[in-house]
Amino acid sequence: MDQNQDSSVRFIPIDDARNLAVRCLQNNGCNIENATAVANIMVRAEADGCPSHGLFRLPGYVAALRSGKVNGEAIPEISHLMPSILKVDACNGFAPFALERSRQDLIDTAKTHGLAAASVVRAHHFSALWCDVEPLVDSGLCAMACTAYLPAMAPYGGAKALFGTNPMAFGWPRTGHAPVIFDQASAAMARGDVMIAARNGETVPTGVGVGPDGLQTTDPEEILKGAMLPFGGHKGSAIAMMVELLAAGLTGDRFSFEAAKYDNKDGGPPQGGLFLLAIDPEKFGDKDWAKHCDGFFEQMLAIKNVRLPGQRRYESRMQSVQKGIAVPEKLIVEISGLLDPLS
Ligand code: NDP
Repeated sequence: MDQNQDSSVRFIPIDDARNLAVRCLQNNGCNIENATAVANIMVRAEADGCPSHGLFRLPGYVAALRSGKVNGEAIPEISHLMPSILKVDACNGFAPFALERSRQDLIDTAKTHGLAAASVVRAHHFSALWCDVEPLVDSGLCAMACTAYLPAMAPYGGAKALFGTNPMAFGWPRTGHAPVIFDQASAAMARGDVMIAARNGETVPTGVGVGPDGLQTTDPEEILKGAMLPFGGHKGSAIAMMVELLAAGLTGDRFSFEAAKYDNKDGGPPQGGLFLLAIDPEKFGDKDWAKHCDGFFEQMLAIKNVRLPGQRRYESRMQSVQKGIAVPEKLIVEISGLLDPLS
């Protein structure tokens, strides 16, 4: 591990960070398959410059193992409800392993039928959603994923949390170029970033949330006690509602407000559902779809100051391979303290 000039941050090679996370999860009750799947997700987020879903989440994963909320040895069960609809029962385990196990089936099903959907239930999801979409897109598919959470965000017009921060990711494959993937919370700011601002004693912009008194505030601590607000007012609120309906209404798993009734508040990921959709563009009748879309992306990029979503992550990924990932010293100390299963 190299010491960076900034003493509050240490640059760690990606493999070392992954090994640290695997060891920590295994020491706290995960088998190697679950530990590796969860560690991979966190390290990929770190490498892509998304620290709010990186190692920062490790203490939450450990808390969920220690409290017994999550089964670190869960073996997901995968079945087909219809030829093109997969049911993935995470069996009370972490979502990354269930998604990893079912991925090839989802890809093969989409390539056979043109479309495939996965209804993922009884999963504990805490990660960045692009991680779930990117492998599908790398297989040549268009893909979308969404998940609900715990009540954290008020529907537009209200000041009481009911929706989760409800992220949605969408990816588009390209030949000869990195895929285009956007991944966004329906909240004005990801909750992980509000938590990081609270940890660092920083303020957040107006419009991110309201305090327990229902009034807008820039104090992240107050927002975490009150409610976050959707991005774009009523438009973000409608997307958050759609995510609740797809991830819970369709899968039969818990809406965010229902998840709160069962969650033991250990700080780890609650149990809930995910919805994934994969589409094979080769099956929609336009053999020139890739070239056609490249022309569209070129038009976008020809406009000054426009970039494609995902570009920042890919640049960060290249830098991380060379420099390693920047982890706050405070977090390294916290993780070290979690390596001992008895601590
Ligand atoms: P951001 O607002 O940072 O980014 C949203 C999207 O917009 C990204 O795809 C980003 O691409 C793109 N983007 C940003 N700036 C530009 C630009 N100038 N031009 C074009 N595209 C741009 O994300 P959020 O804060 O909303 O979400 C952060 C993460 O939190 C997500 O990964 C989400 O999945 C996760 N999350 C997970 C939850 C869970 O329960 N599991 C709950 C809520 C959020 P780029 O990355 O390249 O900048």
